[in-house]
Amino acid sequence: MSETKHTKLLIIGSGPAGYTAGIYGSRAMLEPVLVQGMQPGGQLTITTEVENWPSRKEVQGPDLMVEMEEHARTAGTEIIADHISELDLSRRPFTAKGETGMTYTADSVILATGAQAKWLGLPSEEKFKGFGVSACATCDGFFYRGDEIVVIGGGNSAVEEALFLTKFASKVTLIHRRDELRAEKILQNRLLKNEKIVPLWFHELDEIYGSEDPLGVEGVKVRHVETGEITDIPCKGVFIAIGHAPSNELVKDTLETHMGGYVVTAPDSTATSIPGVFAAGDITDFKYRQAITSAGMGCMAALEAEHFLSEQE
Ligand code: FAD
Ligand code: NAP
Repeated sequence: MSETKHTKLLIIGSGPAGYTAGIYGSRAMLEPVLVQGMQPGGQLTITTEVENWPSRKEVQGPDLMVEMEEHARTAGTEIIADHISELDLSRRPFTAKGETGMTYTADSVILATGAQAKWLGLPSEEKFKGFGVSACATCDGFFYRGDEIVVIGGGNSAVEEALFLTKFASKVTLIHRRDELRAEKILQNRLLKNEKIVPLWFHELDEIYGSEDPLGVEGVKVRHVETGEITDIPCKGVFIAIGHAPSNELVKDTLETHMGGYVVTAPDSTATSIPGVFAAGDITDFKYRQAITSAGMGCMAALEAEHFLSEQE
C-alpha cells in the first residue's frame, strides 16, 4: 500500500487518551483518523481487573478497551491498524508515515502514544528476556504453574502483578528497594494478606542466572541496598515491574520534553511546543498515569484541536 490519506485530525495511539480524543473529535465533526499502533487498546489490554473506571466497579481491561474502540468507531472515528514510523511536524499539513506504506497528512495531530514498561538494563535481564524474564504477568504468568517467581518493584504494577501471579505460582517474592510500597493502600493490604507472597525489603536485583540449553531462569541474586550482602533466591520466573517510560520515539527530537522524556504541554492544556500538535495521556503525564486522567486529556486535546482548526479557518 502506498496511498496518502488526508485528515483534519490525526490521532496516534489507541489507549484511553486516543479513543476518547476520537469520540470528542468525531462529535466536533473533525472526521478523525486514529492509528492504533502495535498495541491496539494500549496498556489496559495487558491487565485483568480494572476497579477504578467510574461506573464500572470491575471490568476486565481488554473488555473496557474493546468498548472504547467501538464507541470511538460508532461516533465516527476512522480506526486504522497501522504503526507510525515517522512523523514530520516541521510544516503543515503534518505528515506521518505508517508501516503499512500509508502516508497520512493532517491539519492537526493528537499524540496519544502512551508509555512502555521500563527495564533494569542488566545484561542477564536482556539475556533471559522471553526465557523466564517478563514485564507482563497477564501475558506470561500462565507458564509458571507451581513455580516460584520473583517480582521486582513497589508500585501498583508490581503489587498487581504479584497478586495475579499467585493464581499460578507456589510462591511469589516481591523484591523492593525500600520498605514502603508506592502502590495504593487497598492493593498493599491485599498483598500483605496473601500467604503466597513474601516481600523482601531493601533489596535490588543484582543478577539473573539459569541454564544455557535450553535457555531458562533458575534463580536470582539480590543485593541488600545498605549492607551489599548478596542473597540467592531460586525461581523460574522474574517479572520486572519498575514503572513505565513515555513512548516518545516519534517526537523526542522535535517536541520539548522533560522529567525523563514526557512531552511538555502548556499549563492546563494539551498544546505542545508546536501549534496544532497536542499530547494526551501517559506520553505527557509523569504524575497520575491513570486510564481516567488519560481519557480526560484525550477529551481536552480533541476540544483544543477543534478550537485550533476553527481559528485557522
Ligand atoms: P496507552 O494505554 O499506553 O496506549 C498507547 C497507545 O499508543 C497504544 O495503543 C499503542 O499501540 C499506541 N502507539 C504507540 N506508539 C505508536 C506509534 N508509533 N504509532 C501508532 N500508535 C502508537 N490505570 C488505571 O486507571 N486503572 C488500572 O487498573 C490500571 N491498571 C494498569 C495495569 C497495568 C499492568 C498497566 C501497565 C497500567 C495500568 N494502568 C491503570 C495505567 C493505564 O493503563 C494508563 O494510564 C493508560 O493506559 C494510558 O493511556 P494512554 O492512552 O495514554 O496510552
Ligand atoms: P511506578 O508507580 O512508577 O512504580 C515503580 C516502582 O518500581 C517503584 O516502587 C520504584 O521504587 C521501583 N523502581 C523504579 N526503578 C527501579 C529500579 N531501577 N530498581 C528497583 N526498583 C525500581 O510504576 P507502576 O507501578 O508501573 O505504575 C505506573 C503508573 O500506572 C502509576 O501512575 C500507577 O498508578 C498506574 N497504575 C495504576 C494501576 C491501578 O490503578 N490499579 C495499576 C497499575 C499501574 P520506589 O518506590 O523506591 O521509587
